[in-house]
Amino acid sequence: MTAHANGEVSFWYTDTGGRPNSRAELPGNASADVVIIGAGYTGLWTAYYLKQASPDLRIVILEKEFAGFGASGRNGGWLTSEFGWSRERYAERFGRSAVISLQRLLRAAVDEVIDVCLSEGIDADIVKGGALQVATTPAQRARLAALLEHERAWSVSPEDAEWLSRDDTRERIQVAGALASIYSPHHARIQPAKLARGLAHVVELLGVRIFENTCARTLRAGEVTTDRGRVSADYVVRATEGFTAGIDGLRRQWLPMNSAMIVTEPVDEHLWDQIGWHSRELLSDTAHAYMYAQRTLEGRIAIGGRGVPYRFGSKTDVDGRTQPRTVRMLEDILVTLFPMLRGVAVDHAWCGVIGVPRDWCASVGLDRATGMAWAGGYVGVGVATSNLAARTLRDLILDLDGPESRLPWVNHRVRPWEPEPLRWIGVRSLNALYRTADVRERNSGTVRTSPLAKVADLIAGRR
Ligand SMILES: Cc1cc2nc3c(=O)[nH]c(=O)nc-3n(C[C@H](O)[C@H](O)[C@H](O)COP(=O)(O)OP(=O)(O)OC[C@H]3O[C@@H](n4cnc5c(N)ncnc54)[C@H](O)[C@@H]3O)c2cc1C
Repeated sequence: MTAHANGEVSFWYTDTGGRPNSRAELPGNASADVVIIGAGYTGLWTAYYLKQASPDLRIVILEKEFAGFGASGRNGGWLTSEFGWSRERYAERFGRSAVISLQRLLRAAVDEVIDVCLSEGIDADIVKGGALQVATTPAQRARLAALLEHERAWSVSPEDAEWLSRDDTRERIQVAGALASIYSPHHARIQPAKLARGLAHVVELLGVRIFENTCARTLRAGEVTTDRGRVSADYVVRATEGFTAGIDGLRRQWLPMNSAMIVTEPVDEHLWDQIGWHSRELLSDTAHAYMYAQRTLEGRIAIGGRGVPYRFGSKTDVDGRTQPRTVRMLEDILVTLFPMLRGVAVDHAWCGVIGVPRDWCASVGLDRATGMAWAGGYVGVGVATSNLAARTLRDLILDLDGPESRLPWVNHRVRPWEPEPLRWIGVRSLNALYRTADVRERNSGTVRTSPLAKVADLIAGRR
């Protein structure tokens, strides 16, 4: 394996000249109207929309490292309207039309992010080239067809998601072994850290105070205790997503699931001539242990996947460092999909955590009696979702009766994850089952989804 950078939060920061300069820590006790814990997209967008709607609000954001340190500065750069949760589960409580509203508003959120970036002068390398989900085995192809049928049943039209044949798929991107794909136009590529940095700058200009290197320890109605002092506020917003388990009393709330990425060196033009990928579509597959990828501004490929899924006791990584075997796994996926890239060096590897609720459904909420609010549990699709979640929080906190306040994720509650060691054993086993299912499907050439994956889905609580 070639020498490459590992961790350092993510390649996206190396790409922008390294870690941003630190902002001040909380200087002691303070007060605000709203205190937000976490300066990722959720916290930053929430501050942005609250200030837009009510410029006099006093808003403080507390961040344990720096703005964009978490998944928001490490992700795959999929600004996606993908519906990552169970429509059926939301519909049980809120009905079908609420779920269809969520789908529609998610699509609009992609354009909203693009529009705000334009109007606020945030350059985040955005290209709206859509997304291509490919199938590379007969079982994946059958699953993809079933997925499209399911989407159609939820009013997803052929303009929203189009079936592409093998040849049409390869016309867009020369993925080895591609048998078919679904193309959807409602997705855009971004450079994640540029968005996080730009947003932090914009909210500061609006008068929001961001305190970095300030870790919130306990969250209570009206007050947050940190290692630097206390902040009292009418509203306390938890925007800590995959890190939530690190806060007192919330260890079993959302499981911090690991996701890892590598990025190649810039790929030569003659190789791009073979690969295509001219429209900068986002690319994913239909494996159980799926991958996601983008072609970056400089012509690199950034590709991600699950890696080692979970650390015992809901621990998180150190500065984004990932394991060598995860890097090897992602390299293997890359050259399997693009054999012409054998020999192209990996420049950087890193990982981060996403928040996974026990029912795999995102939620946004406010307890009016206490002023305690939260948003997250996006299960790996949080880039556009966090924007919509923030507008939902704005409506809840300011008591506005917009369509966002009626979305089916509002005050959606779920039971906690199992205690350790069950949590660790469960997640590790699920991962092993999914990987074995992928190998069996590939080796047998069957069109049927492996029963192992179905068992894993059942145990995971995804069905
Ligand atoms: C490798 C990877 C790839 C991904 N790819 C995609 C993708 O392509 N598309 C997509 O839609 N989603 C993707 N995701 C998920 C997406 O990035 C997240 O859902 C989204 O960024 C969540 O934003 P957030 O602000 O809620 O959380 P985060 O960005 O994780 O922010 C939480 C912040 O809270 C801070 N914090 C935590 N605890 C405390 C505390 N006690 N006190 C103070 N501050 C605290 C953290 O330091 C962090 O900055 C990916 C995630 C990862 C890890």
